[in-house]
Amino acid sequence: MISYHVSLLSLSQQTLKITVSVPAVGDVISASLPAWIPGSYKIRDFARNIGEFSVLNTKGEAVNWSKKDKQSWEIHSNNEACEISYTVIANDFSVRGAFINDDYAFMNGTSVFIDIENTPDVKRNVFINTCSAPSSWQAYTAMPSSPSPDSANSFICNSYYELIDHPIYWGVATVKQFEVKGVTFDFLLSGTQPIDINRITEDLAPICEHHLSLFGAPSPIDYYLFISLLADTGYGGLEHRDSTVLMYPRFDLPLINEPGPASDAYIDYLSLCSHEFFHTWHVKRLRPEVMLAPDLSKEVYTEQLWIYEGITSFYDDLTVARTGKMSPEHYLTILGRHLTRLYHTPGRAKQTPMESSFDAWTRFYQQDANSNNHIVSYYVKGGIIAMGLDILLRSKSNNRVSLDHVMQYLWNTFGKNEVGTPDNAIHTACNALGVNVDEYLSDVANGVTDVDLTSLLNEIGLNLEFRGRTHSSDKGGTPCDNPISNDFGATLSQTPQGLKVTQLQQGSAAEKANLLIGDKIIAANDWLVTEPLFMRLIQSQQDHSSIALTVARQGRLISLELPVQNAQQKVAVVSIKEKPKYLQWLGLEA
Ligand SMILES: [Zn+2]
Repeated sequence: MISYHVSLLSLSQQTLKITVSVPAVGDVISASLPAWIPGSYKIRDFARNIGEFSVLNTKGEAVNWSKKDKQSWEIHSNNEACEISYTVIANDFSVRGAFINDDYAFMNGTSVFIDIENTPDVKRNVFINTCSAPSSWQAYTAMPSSPSPDSANSFICNSYYELIDHPIYWGVATVKQFEVKGVTFDFLLSGTQPIDINRITEDLAPICEHHLSLFGAPSPIDYYLFISLLADTGYGGLEHRDSTVLMYPRFDLPLINEPGPASDAYIDYLSLCSHEFFHTWHVKRLRPEVMLAPDLSKEVYTEQLWIYEGITSFYDDLTVARTGKMSPEHYLTILGRHLTRLYHTPGRAKQTPMESSFDAWTRFYQQDANSNNHIVSYYVKGGIIAMGLDILLRSKSNNRVSLDHVMQYLWNTFGKNEVGTPDNAIHTACNALGVNVDEYLSDVANGVTDVDLTSLLNEIGLNLEFRGRTHSSDKGGTPCDNPISNDFGATLSQTPQGLKVTQLQQGSAAEKANLLIGDKIIAANDWLVTEPLFMRLIQSQQDHSSIALTVARQGRLISLELPVQNAQQKVAVVSIKEKPKYLQWLGLEA
């Protein structure tokens, strides 16, 4: 047994103290902290937050140790038991790290628990030292309680992988329990605030039921914990085997005594919960072969993230619509927004979703202002591929096979027994179900071809159209009578020195003018401009004559000529043509 004792060391320094009791496991103990956390494919070097490392033997004498590299230590324990202590700086306010404030300490094991090499099957114990924190703080985790007298603050699991897959929330919380299909859910909101937790859990229960029914009995879980870290701003979600951690703006959730229809932001929150709970099957148990026991010290590459994040992105919104928690019309608004985002990504013609998956570590997770022109999101394109695949399967099989059946096949063949999926898992599943979609998949997932949704959506009674933008941050999804006629093709933000170019679309007028990201547009045709005036001037050039720009670039004033171009028709709007067909596809019979 390896035991971890967790104490709050200093609130204002945001530090924890961890003491690890290690049994005699050899002359030299190798200890290390992961460089990344499963589900978030970026090297984060969590060990940079570790300090004041020391080791004592059972007699209380100092034991020699040395640092091997940025994240590992070598301890000369002489084959005796020892106690390793260190502090952890916990000031990463995200779902991925560790964070302390006056309400709580939130911990991912990858940030706080060092691993001891060559002890894969040694049980791990966690003790929360409640005396070190305010008495109102309580520990919440999906990690099983250990059979100790202090079972509320003491937890146990079978391996290090299990340990780090059970984030711990220790603090003040608002919690509501509910049960669906024999599974007990705890739904936790950080801190105390006037949020209507009863309404949220009532809305969430049918979404959980949908996923449990989709993958079928027996359920792989009997307990699940939703942890929401509420913030003023901030957004995120990270999946675990038996829990999830979400970050969301608190006042985007419904307040107590605030009846009325769900806001768009609240519907998005339900989709986020739906997304993370779907991962309980799809990526936490059913997963790529290389993710069964991944090396956490360095990047682990897979071409399958489009399968895991794309299909999950498709089902997250779809489930909220299938369960009636968003209207069929609102689902189309969201679909239109996803398509608008995709069609404003020139990088989709350069990077395949499989390449995007493989290079997630250095490209998708490390984007800059220009990334859109060079890469494609495996979430967004993957979600559209999943939708296209579902319609194609239904159409080719005369409605005998849908993506639901592919999910069930994958779960029963791979996920249930935790066998890793090969790169061609979707091809294999579809072929096994008697539908050949090889050409579609090689075009859209292994190639850069757009999913032909215009004709596919027709088959389910929907109509896809494109229009110009109404303004530079037009997200699409809804019709509009007066889109702009001329477009600029860049995103701007107002600064005291002028309009700063924050993003620039390949093929746009802004590119043809040789503008660079970071340039500040000061004047157009010698008029000092704000964004509304600048857009009006562009619209007013009906003869398409160019506009003279005065631009500040890295401390110099330069002149550029901006051609005036017709607005591109890339804002997607999906409308209903044959409602019964559409409702039938949604699973809501007319
Ligand atoms: Zn996800």
